[in-house]
Amino acid sequence: MKKLTELFAEKQRTISFEFFPPKTEKGMAKLYDTADVLAEKADFFNVTYGAGGSSSKATFDIVVELQKRFALPVVHHFTCVQHTYDDIHKALEQFKAADITNILALLGDPPADNPDYKPGPDEPKFAYELIKMIREHGDFFCAGAPGFPEGHPDTPTKELDSEYLKIKQDAGAEVVFTQLFFDNDIYYEFRDRVRAEGVTMRLLPGMLTITNYPKLIEFCNTCGATIPQSVTDIFEPIADDPDATYKRGIEFAVEQCQDLWDNDVPGLHFYCLNKTEPVMTVYNALKL
Ligand SMILES: Cc1cc2nc3c(=O)[nH]c(=O)nc-3n(C[C@H](O)[C@H](O)[C@H](O)COP(=O)(O)OP(=O)(O)OC[C@H]3O[C@@H](n4cnc5c(N)ncnc54)[C@H](O)[C@@H]3O)c2cc1C
Repeated sequence: MKKLTELFAEKQRTISFEFFPPKTEKGMAKLYDTADVLAEKADFFNVTYGAGGSSSKATFDIVVELQKRFALPVVHHFTCVQHTYDDIHKALEQFKAADITNILALLGDPPADNPDYKPGPDEPKFAYELIKMIREHGDFFCAGAPGFPEGHPDTPTKELDSEYLKIKQDAGAEVVFTQLFFDNDIYYEFRDRVRAEGVTMRLLPGMLTITNYPKLIEFCNTCGATIPQSVTDIFEPIADDPDATYKRGIEFAVEQCQDLWDNDVPGLHFYCLNKTEPVMTVYNALKL
């Protein structure tokens, strides 16, 4: 399967959509129905990996199936948490055998049932170790890294965060997928800061359409993304009106994506939450 680096050599800008592994058969059917619609617009897909490896089989199976059905590259998210070096070697061999060539290398969050989890001596401590392990397979894989435009919540400063991203690039990472953000100046500041650090990788902005304000607050509290005052001002007064939130969510996302596109981003990466709408409405409204 084509690596993202090969795709990037052909295309200056990409459109991609991210799925998560559903827990039910109904959810699985919906994911493939959604992918069927989005595949027309997509250059590639991503599939996330449940905390602590909880979805390892499901993620793998979905990546294999999506690549088979749509002949598009699918990025397999993979995390270190609760995986020994040996587990990781075995997983990489399994990916190779299944022609999975794109991996987003993450440390991962602690599992829900073990929030105080600390890596053991035979487990990686940082994601750059995973990137190095991926690179030991030569050019077979393209490795990606997450980017935190506001800095990773546990990293003391943004500057240190940029240095850690450069370490990942030096270890062999070739593309960055960003955490969500709702103020484009946060992305532009991140781009300038990491470029000054020597990071040359494509920085694909992660886009989420707001359709449920209370859930957004909950999610941003866990991932450390700021909800700007402009977003609060729009969505708080209509938080208990789903139709009004949906309408304003679309408008906001279109405006945000268009501004990014007009400011030379290398693509748009949509967190579609396994749904065709609202992402298609946003996509169709954009002048790309
Ligand atoms: C785009 C995106 C996709 C995601 N997908 C998933 C997913 O599918 N499954 C999942 O479980 N989670 C996912 N996450 C969540 C992610 O795993 C967590 O946010 C995790 O905390 C990210 O850590 P990291 O991969 O950057 O790890 P690391 O780079 O290892 O960072 C972890 C901590 O170590 C510190 N650190 C990093 N490098 C160094 C260094 N060289 N020296 C010293 N300290 C260092 C950092 O400051 C940070 O505090 C995703 C996040 C993003 C942004």
